[in-house]
Amino acid sequence: MSSFSHENGILCCENVSIAEIADKFGSPVYVYSENHIRSKARDYLTSLSKPGMICFSVKALSNIHILKILADEGCCFDVVSAGEMQRCFAAGIDAGKLIFSGVGKSEQEIAFAIKSGIFSINAESFSEIERISKIAAELDTVAPLGIRINPDISIASHEYIQTGKKEDKFGINTEDALSKLKEISNNPHLELKGIACHIGSQISDTAYFKEAAKSMLRVISEIDALDLTCSFIDMGGGGAINYINEKEMAPKDIIEAIEDVLKERNELLVLEPGRSIVGNAGALITKVEYLKSSFAIVDAGMNDLIRPALYKAEHKIVDVNLSLKENKTLKVVGPICESGDYLSQESQLQADEGDYIAVLGAGAYGSVMSSNYNSRTRAPEILVNGDNYRLIRKRESVADLINPEINL
Ligand SMILES: *Cc1c(COP(=O)(O)O)cnc(C)c1O
Repeated sequence: MSSFSHENGILCCENVSIAEIADKFGSPVYVYSENHIRSKARDYLTSLSKPGMICFSVKALSNIHILKILADEGCCFDVVSAGEMQRCFAAGIDAGKLIFSGVGKSEQEIAFAIKSGIFSINAESFSEIERISKIAAELDTVAPLGIRINPDISIASHEYIQTGKKEDKFGINTEDALSKLKEISNNPHLELKGIACHIGSQISDTAYFKEAAKSMLRVISEIDALDLTCSFIDMGGGGAINYINEKEMAPKDIIEAIEDVLKERNELLVLEPGRSIVGNAGALITKVEYLKSSFAIVDAGMNDLIRPALYKAEHKIVDVNLSLKENKTLKVVGPICESGDYLSQESQLQADEGDYIAVLGAGAYGSVMSSNYNSRTRAPEILVNGDNYRLIRKRESVADLINPEINL
């Protein structure tokens, strides 16, 4: 399901014409559907049959206006840096709604998280747990701790978005984690709050979630056996969306699969969806600058959307205004001086020079991964709601790029 569709040949996001937005704000430009984001968040929240937390993965789309909308729906948040924590605070979100994940948390980030009073710091190594304990001791307090388990599960997905195999850098292997539980629980500066896993992204089969839940069930049973308790089981994110021909996972199916395995448990179920909430809520609108043999050279490049170059990701690209022109088979490439700078290897488009096209499925890992390579300024972001739309991030200016280098 996408919130972008043609009405009488005119591509709209909800009820707003995409061409109108691009004419007003220029191209390239990111456009998001507020109602798509709200409805996906609701799908997750209403599918929980017991108390739980839906922690939106901020790294998928971190604009503070999007975070506000998700907070309004009742989401909590999964952050991977102090920067993302501060984005949440800028959006008015309470620290108690934040889970801090990531393999490389710095001392400053850990101290900031503890002082802010976040819900849990999900640690990924024993060295990190030691660091958290040391910082909590210095602050004369108790740090809320989650342990990220690496359940050693291989999913069918691009290798860069698999995160739950033992060769991956993420989490602590189950046996090692179990052997240290007692020691952790005896540490007066740590409160063992939960266990976590995240096996990867773009997962389109509930079997993987079931398998991961079984690993977590084993760990939680061991925690029982040690006479310890914890309050949450965090199953991470990873639900797939449909980009071109993929099977989309309904939040309900993911949650039912996990809840079925964990049905005897009373811990809070935490999920950390990112892509599945915002992926198909967004599109990158770009203009065809030149047609040259089978190339459409457009004004958005890998600096705006790196997923094709980085993961060989395929995005559906459509004409913004359909006419009676014939389709051409085009390779859509950007203006950047790299052969890897492409948005689509093959798209069927009518577009002529000067026409807009829309790269769909660009809401997650799109704008957040954009860069200034080739000194290109980052694209603005527009949020559509029904008949209305508003600017939620300005286009960067060249001054924004150059200022850090002058008056040193
Ligand atoms: C990236 C990430 C997520 C979100 O993954 P999606 O595939 O976007 O749902 C959730 N949890 C952790 C720890 C992550 O690193």
